[in-house]
This record gives sequence, C-alpha cells and structure tokens, in this order.
Amino acid sequence: MNNRAVSQQPGWYYRLSSFFKQKFGEPVYKIPIDAGFSCPNRDGTTGRNGCIYCYNPSFAPFGGNSAAISISDQIQRGRKKNKQAHYLAYFQSYTNTYAPLERLKTLYDEALSASDIVGLSIATRPDCISEEILDLLGKYARRYHIWVEYGLQSVHDHTLKKINRGHDSASFARAVKLTHNRSIYICAHVILGLPGETPAMMLETIDFLNRLGIDGIKFHHLQVIINTELAVQYAQGEVAVYEEAAEYIAVLCDCLERLSPDIVIHRLASRATSEELLLAPHWPEGPGQIASLTGEELKKRGTHQGFFFK
Ligand code: SF4
Repeated sequence: MNNRAVSQQPGWYYRLSSFFKQKFGEPVYKIPIDAGFSCPNRDGTTGRNGCIYCYNPSFAPFGGNSAAISISDQIQRGRKKNKQAHYLAYFQSYTNTYAPLERLKTLYDEALSASDIVGLSIATRPDCISEEILDLLGKYARRYHIWVEYGLQSVHDHTLKKINRGHDSASFARAVKLTHNRSIYICAHVILGLPGETPAMMLETIDFLNRLGIDGIKFHHLQVIINTELAVQYAQGEVAVYEEAAEYIAVLCDCLERLSPDIVIHRLASRATSEELLLAPHWPEGPGQIASLTGEELKKRGTHQGFFFK
C-alpha cells in the first residue's frame, strides 16, 4: 500500500474523483495515450494470440489509430475544451513498460513536459516490470503523481490459463511487492464474469488484493469484442456474459462489500470505445447509470465498500 494513500471519504464506495479532490483540491482528468507499444503476449515473447478477450482498438484512444500521433498532440486533443484543468497522462494501449529504459524515459518525459500534466498512469503486465523501471518511476514520484496499473483479472491460475494471460497470480504478487515503498500508487485490473468463475471465486480475487495491499482497482465486466478468441467461444456457446447490467451490479456490489475501504475505485465496468466492436453484452445503461445503480444497490442492502472487509 502506498504510504501516501489518503483516507476514504464517506459514501457508498471510494471514488477516484473523491481521491483526486482530497489530494489535489480539484478534479484531475486522465488523458489516454497510445505510445505505440507492443505486448509480449502478442509478439511471441510470452505468446502470439494475446488474451482471449483483447482487441486493442476496443479500448485504445482514437480507436487504436493514434500511435502515429505524437504524445504532445494526443495530450492536446485530450484536454477539456474551454477549461483550465490538470491531467494525468494515461499510457493505456498495450503494455506500457515494454521497451528499453531509455525509450520509456523519452516517452514519459514528453508527457510530463506539459505544465498541466501532474502525473502518469501506466498500464502494464505484472511480468513487464523491473527494478530499473520502478527506479525511474520512483524518481518521477518525487515530483509527480504516479500510478502503475497491473492487469491481474483473476487470482485463479486455471482461469488465467483459460484466458491466455501468459502469467500467473504469483507474478502479480511479485510485481506489487517490488512496487511497494516507492511512493508509486498501484492499481489492479480485475474482470468479473470470466469463463468458469463463480461469485465465490471472484471474492477470492478481492481477498487476495486486500492482502497484497494495493491503492486502486479497476473493475471490468467480461465483454465479447470482435476479432477475439472469446468471440469464437461465445458464438459456439462455450462462454456466457452478464446479459443484464443488474446481474453484474449484484456481483460487483458483493466485491465492493468485501474490498478494503481504502482502495480507490477507478472504474466500475468496462467501456468499449465503439458499439460496433462489441458483440455482447449490449446494456442500455451507460457508465453514469451503472454508477448510480451500484450506489442504489448498496443503499438497498444497507452496506458500502468494505462492509464485509476482513
Ligand atoms: S490484454 Fe494486455 S496483456 Fe493481454 S494481449 Fe491485450 S495488450 Fe497484451
């Protein structure tokens, strides 16, 4: 756990917006960046086919067409119109620590050179981090606000195998331990509804994260995106998704109740960049409605984030 973590605001769950308000005294926004990285689970280092649900254009900025645009230009395009604000540069697409150290420094420096960028959020795989990279990020953390986002998805190694992650949960635990005590905030990505997983198994993932000590979490619901192995399995009836948002919200609330109240919620559900890329599920509810329905469900239960935290 980051030794600079701030304590929870009252509410149904600990929102990222509340965290930024506490820390900066104002809202801070993320600008997604595609810096042209690759992924070891696609270039043959770990695997060739990638995770079975992954099709980068479905979550990359500008539909995955922005790698040719400079980082400064991507930041310019991501700024709020007609509004003075501060931002984190969010290195989002593919594996954003998967390059030689000098290259990483050049890219991160470019993002931090803008005066309204107050920090970085760097999405990566737990098997793509090293002491050297963390030393670099630790140096930035003396002046800037730094998050590293590690994909875990599930604590269960047989699930990780099924979805072809190419790493196990021990790899995630190692990455988190290596990141601790460097003033770097740690966020974990978790997918609810993975093939073969029961609600009890998802709670075990939450317990694992509670024990490890992380600062933030991004929840995703399983989405079936075109051009993925998951799409093939879905078409063959081998996997199911939460067809209704209400089914997902029930499981999500179980997880929130079990989650440490000090862990900041970065996201409650997945967001595909385009409906055309999404095969299932098609919920009418947008992110704002998912957030308010989640709050309503917790209110109905008389619980909140951390209510059953052990
Ligand atoms: S989800 Fe991330 S780790 Fe998996 S294949 Fe896609 S970019 Fe690589």
